[in-house]
Amino acid sequence: MKTVGVVGAGTMGNGIAHVFAQSGWTVALTDLSAPLLEKALATILANLDRLVKKGAATAEARDAALARIVTGTDLGALADCDLVVEAATEREDLKFRLFEQLDGLAHPEAILASNTSSISITSIAARTKRPERVIGMHFMNPVPVMQLVEVIRGQATSDSTTVLVMDVARELGKTPVEVNDYPGFVANRVLLPMINEAVFCLMEGVASAESIDTVMKLGMNHPLGPLALADLIGLDTCLSILEVLHEGLGDDKYRPCPLLKRMVAAGHLGRKSGRGFYSYEK
Ligand code: NAD
Repeated sequence: MKTVGVVGAGTMGNGIAHVFAQSGWTVALTDLSAPLLEKALATILANLDRLVKKGAATAEARDAALARIVTGTDLGALADCDLVVEAATEREDLKFRLFEQLDGLAHPEAILASNTSSISITSIAARTKRPERVIGMHFMNPVPVMQLVEVIRGQATSDSTTVLVMDVARELGKTPVEVNDYPGFVANRVLLPMINEAVFCLMEGVASAESIDTVMKLGMNHPLGPLALADLIGLDTCLSILEVLHEGLGDDKYRPCPLLKRMVAAGHLGRKSGRGFYSYEK
């Protein structure tokens, strides 16, 4: 396996293309428009440049990695890929349609992976005629920096697909961890209730945002407090993952905090909107 298709060139897709290209894979990166792809290539170049400046990569390696990435808006360009990693917008209907299309155009042996944070791999796989070759490859943000890849086995994912994808993750210099397909997998099932509880603490006046984050940073050795982390993830994303946990596991312990809902309704989404639990206005 040496040719990968990446669907979606946003925050995660450009990082995924970057790490594959750096490991010698040929990458076909697709998105909906040329400007989105140009922006992704500019981000990849800036991130590779940073590695060169730090002495972690040579200028030749940077140029070779960039030369291995081919961009385009036609999904058909992924027909010859050994592996496809889908990193498009987190919407169930969109991912279902994409996997139906990818199943129709990719060669029968190709593995189709999704980077979804919360959508069931089993349901995505059921849209294809190759559910045994569909798997979750959940990279963390920022992809070139973060060590973990959560590898999610759907109900029908085969042992051989899992072994291959774990090996690919290792080849990228990552540490894969195999988990089963339940709502939120492991990362978000454990992380989001902690963030939600921090928002309840803030709503109930237990402490200020700064104090809650300081307790978790200095007391638990977390590099970032839960409220600052929520701002980084995006409060709308946090809310939608909590809704998936609440609905999928049917337990009220996952009910999203009313303050989180109110902030999302107000458009206070964290860093990306300039305001969340903290202010990022310039
Ligand atoms: P994003 O909004 O930054 O990027 C998504 C990209 O997908 C956009 O550029 C969009 O134009 C493109 N897209 C939409 N429909 C498409 C289609 N039909 N074909 C090709 N491209 C299409 O989102 P993101 O944060 O990169 O998230 C992507 C995926 O990664 C989601 O499933 C998300 O849950 C998951 N994820 C995100 C994070 C994170 O921290 N952002 C972490 C882990 C996993």
